[in-house]
Amino acid sequence: MTAIELYDRPSPGFDALVAHAAAVLESAATEHAGRIVQATSLGAEDMVLTDLIARHQLPIAIATLDTGMLHSETLALIPRIEQRYGLPVERHAPRHEATIAFVRRHGEQPMYQSIELRKSCCDLRKLQPLARMLNERSAWITGLRREQSAHRGAVPFNELDAQGRIKFNPLADWSWNDVWHYISAHDVPYNDLHDQFFPSIGCAPCTRAIAVGEDFRAGRWWWEDEKAKECGLHVKALEVAA
Ligand code: SF4
Repeated sequence: MTAIELYDRPSPGFDALVAHAAAVLESAATEHAGRIVQATSLGAEDMVLTDLIARHQLPIAIATLDTGMLHSETLALIPRIEQRYGLPVERHAPRHEATIAFVRRHGEQPMYQSIELRKSCCDLRKLQPLARMLNERSAWITGLRREQSAHRGAVPFNELDAQGRIKFNPLADWSWNDVWHYISAHDVPYNDLHDQFFPSIGCAPCTRAIAVGEDFRAGRWWWEDEKAKECGLHVKALEVAA
């Protein structure tokens, strides 16, 4: 069964959800003209956002983190987006020399050795490239939703990140079924791994398929304690201050 066959079931207020998400994007693009980017993970939610940005012709750049550890299915989505929407996708990668030195020191799969090494890998391959992506930008767009995990249960439509930029989360109140209804209704391209029971997709060594009944993010860093399972991309300003 495909992800569309499994999940395409819209909420009763689906049209209002779409209108609200589009309004959040429009006002974000106006407020932060020329200084705003969609940081796409290339997951299902982010594909909805890219489609909305393209559909409404909003001046919001599209960018992704090419960690060097992504599945081939994820990488294959980049040219599909560029072709479908006629928009360039910026790719922000880790520094080559630093990556070589890290791998030489800790091996190809340091993430399984300790949480500290896993976080160092995320810092090198995700947080540092993200900082370069956001440099000279005042706002960014993400596909965070409240339903994704207990940790994300209070995600607002906009918030301050740790550096004081505005982070917009236009799909905060969408369900997973709404996401798939939008994808189906608008024939949005999506990662083939979603049809293989990967709801949340990150780097290849740190993502697995989930079984029936498992939590949405059970396939991410599955060997770690639940509380440690964020890579640091979405740390809030208040958490940093604490
Ligand atoms: Fe490294 Fe895994 Fe983090 Fe990707 S998700 S940067 S492979 S530890």
